[in-house]
Amino acid sequence: MRECKRCMLYEMADKAAYESVKNYLDALPGDIRTDEDEYRRRLAICRDCDMFLAAMCRKCGCYVEVRAARSDTHCPKGEACW
Ligand code: SF4
Repeated sequence: MRECKRCMLYEMADKAAYESVKNYLDALPGDIRTDEDEYRRRLAICRDCDMFLAAMCRKCGCYVEVRAARSDTHCPKGEACW
């Protein structure tokens, strides 16, 4: 299967991993869920980051769609990110 190095999970052909992540995101309590504008801002930063590869952050090993969805998390790279 061909995989896009700059793709998020929701854009990939393999939907199984995305479904699992989506279930997790849907179950996140509202008080720790990043609001939609901030979530999109975070993902845009990740997509342009040199540590981003095929939906994952090579710095922390997380799917960025999961890490960015929690308002109580930060980019592991530091203050220049989110
Ligand atoms: S979480 Fe930070 S270090 Fe990781 S891909 Fe996103 S911007 Fe880059």
